[in-house]
Formats: sequence, structure tokens, C-alpha cells
Amino acid sequence: MLDIDLMELADLHRPKDIVSEIYHQNPGWDEPVSLEELADRCGIKEIRYESLKGIEGALIANDTKSEGIIVINSDARHHRRRYTLGHELGHYLIPHHGFQMSCTSKDMSTKINKDIKMNSSQNIEAEANEFSANLLMPEPWLNKQKCFSREPSIECIKFLADKLDVSFQACANRYADLHDRPVAVVFSHMLKVQYGYTGGEHPFWLRYAKRGSSIPNSSLTASLGKVDDLTFHNDECDASLWFDENKYYCLPETCIEEVYVQEDGYIATLLWFEDEIEEKEEE
Ligand SMILES: [Zn+2]
Repeated sequence: MLDIDLMELADLHRPKDIVSEIYHQNPGWDEPVSLEELADRCGIKEIRYESLKGIEGALIANDTKSEGIIVINSDARHHRRRYTLGHELGHYLIPHHGFQMSCTSKDMSTKINKDIKMNSSQNIEAEANEFSANLLMPEPWLNKQKCFSREPSIECIKFLADKLDVSFQACANRYADLHDRPVAVVFSHMLKVQYGYTGGEHPFWLRYAKRGSSIPNSSLTASLGKVDDLTFHNDECDASLWFDENKYYCLPETCIEEVYVQEDGYIATLLWFEDEIEEKEEE
């Protein structure tokens, strides 16, 4: 049973701090996290699932946000519905967010842009995403699994995603953000990049991050593109195949390319370095 002291939450503004406080108040909170229970404890009177056109979710609350309802697009898949619910709860619990919000699927993938005002609508959406990711994949819980000090692995991401009842993609992004080593993931379909993601403070620029670009021909990923089974493969490859050099860090000669062949031509590629990354000496 969750126990939430809303007064303690009211003074916090950053998504991460609010989630940490919820976690702090409920140290025995079991995975997978029950968002419905949390919503109920925070004053959400109803979560309605309806077929929505053009939006994924909405928050309709009173102006003091002491109570409200959340509407979720019932046409979305299970994991997306969970993520959207986390996002709307973010709007509800982050004090400076509005009390009436309607959010599109584009809003669900918005990331913080430090070059624009923090309270711009784009960053408000990004904060709600940060809240949802933190809530569904709590850092204290992840740290207990000791997965970020071990070598990166797709099997580990899969294990965590199943445990937390989140999508493999959402979990892979979070994993890349929190791992001790620089980790990158590339999601492709029929060997065309859907998106590439480098976690936290990755030292190198991923060459294949742009939607629609072709997976490099000589990569392991490309060689497995026609295989259609749920399998894992890995190999060492030239780091320069995937990453660009830069003036701050020495790009190692090789990186590990681990490939997860999913169904219907979808592939996830995890990239990481066995060698320590060294800074370049100043000239
Ligand atoms: Zn939103």
C-alpha cells in the first residue's frame, strides 16, 4: 500500500526530486510500479481509457490540482499507455505545469532543450517525460540491481524491461542514460535507422542517429537484417564505423556491437567500448 505525503511533494519542482521523494516515502515499493495506485493516492479520481484522435493523454484537474481525472488513449499499446499515464501524472504533480493538459504522441518523445526557456511548452512536455521515465524506472531500484557497474548487455535491458513492465525501447534509453560507461543504442527497421540514442554524457557523436539513414553495410546489424528470430548476437567492430572522432576524446579502435533481432524487421543495436575512454592531450 502506497503512502504519499503530498505536503512534502509540494515544495519540489524537478521531476527527479519529486520521484525520489515518492520513493523515499515508500522504500518497500515493489516493481512493477503501480501508477494507478499512485494516482489514486494523489487525488486522481478516475483514469479513463478512451479511443482518442490525435492525442495520447490528457489531464483535467481543478486549478489547485488537488483532484482531477486522467484520460488515456485506449488504442495505444500497453507499455505506451503506462508511459502516458506517468507523463500525465507528471503534469499533475509538477507544481508549475498546467492543470488542463492534452498531449500528443510527439509530446511523449520531447526532450529537454537547454537553449530555450525552461517553462516553454516544449520543456514542460520534456519534464513530464522525465518524470514518467523516473517513475517507471526508478534510479534507486535500478541501482539495487547493480546493472550499471557490469558490462552493458541487451539481455540485462530486456530483463529490466520485463521486470518493470516498460517497453524495451524506453528501458534501453534509460539504461544508456544511467550506465557507468558510455552506451549508445540504435533502433532500426528494415536496416533504416528509426533513431539513435547516446546516453547521458556520451563522449562521441553517433554517426547513425538520424531517422531514415541506412545502417552501415559492413556492420553486424546489417548482416543480420534478414534473420527473423528473437536472438542476440555480438561482435567486436571498428569504432569508426559507428562513431565520429572529435577533438576532446580518443576514439578507441574497436567497440562492441550487440544486436537484438526482434520481430518484423525491427533490430536494436547496443554499442559500447571495452577500453577506457581517454581525453586527448591539449596541443
Ligand atoms: Zn504532456
